[in-house]
Amino acid sequence: ATPTALLVGTGRASQLGILIKGPQILEDTRHVDTILLDKTGTVTTGRLAVTGVAALDGRSDAEVLALAGAVEAGSEHPIAKAVVEAARAAGPLPVPAGFHSAPGGGVRGTAAYDGGPALALVAGRTGWLEENGIVPSAAQQQAFAALQDSGATAIWLAVDGEPAGIISLRDTVKDGSAAAVRRLKELGLRPVLLTGDNAAVAAHVAAAVGIAAGDVYAEVRPEGKVEAVRGLQEAGRTVAMVGDGVNDAAALAQADLGIAMGSGTDVAIEAADITVMGSDLGQVVQAIELSRRTLATIK
Ligand code: ADP
Ligand code: MG
Repeated sequence: ATPTALLVGTGRASQLGILIKGPQILEDTRHVDTILLDKTGTVTTGRLAVTGVAALDGRSDAEVLALAGAVEAGSEHPIAKAVVEAARAAGPLPVPAGFHSAPGGGVRGTAAYDGGPALALVAGRTGWLEENGIVPSAAQQQAFAALQDSGATAIWLAVDGEPAGIISLRDTVKDGSAAAVRRLKELGLRPVLLTGDNAAVAAHVAAAVGIAAGDVYAEVRPEGKVEAVRGLQEAGRTVAMVGDGVNDAAALAQADLGIAMGSGTDVAIEAADITVMGSDLGQVVQAIELSRRTLATIK
């Protein structure tokens, strides 16, 4: 039988905008000692802005952005949303077709200007380009690395099998994230940052919110997020994972306690034990505090 206090706890939680899948989940939070935080959309706003476009093959910057916008139109990734928004603001987009999305990698598809030929488009990280048989030159990779080192999130656009441009984007750390991380530490949890983004961006965000440099996992593939959770579990830790993306779903399911941001994707919410309705990391702290208070009542 479920102790009444647990039911009261879940009721109180829902008043706070914290949805818990079952009363027993409050119990599971008790042993959590490590909390993995997805970066994009969880610690940061996930509302990226395009800050630069560098054409590589003689096309104009505007055309590179428009083609990227066309192939990204079918993706709900924060990078895609930012690229589409910037591209639409600059003019009409070529019409996309045959779209495929690789979570944690990028997108692929075709698009054509009115009456023009279909162009094969690939957008995303270096590894995703390589998976599609496209290898940027050393000089192009150097330009890409320089943008990343400056703290930008950079993605490639390739057209008809050749690198055509690099798009740089920037994200913003959420207002409440640093305070939430501080509170998690006070509660005895060890915060770890987990991201598919590059190491320079990850280090910058970790420093901004007070996560130790040694507790940052960057350039992690979605499968790698699951492995990171499992690795910590095998090392004897009890792991909570907080995420919002399609790419976080498997890790949310693997974690002892999966927490989804309500602003995130349905797949993440389905995989999680707890969903916080807002987009504030402070609510994650509230969920943990509430479960501890509830359990203290039962004891
Ligand atoms: P995060 O862990 O920060 O949410 P993801 O695992 O979703 O990151 O993505 C990892 C990397 O894969 C991104 O930094 C980007 O380089 C690339 N990527 C993923 N989705 C897209 C997309 N729709 N368009 C372009 N690049 C993408
Ligand atoms: Mg994310």
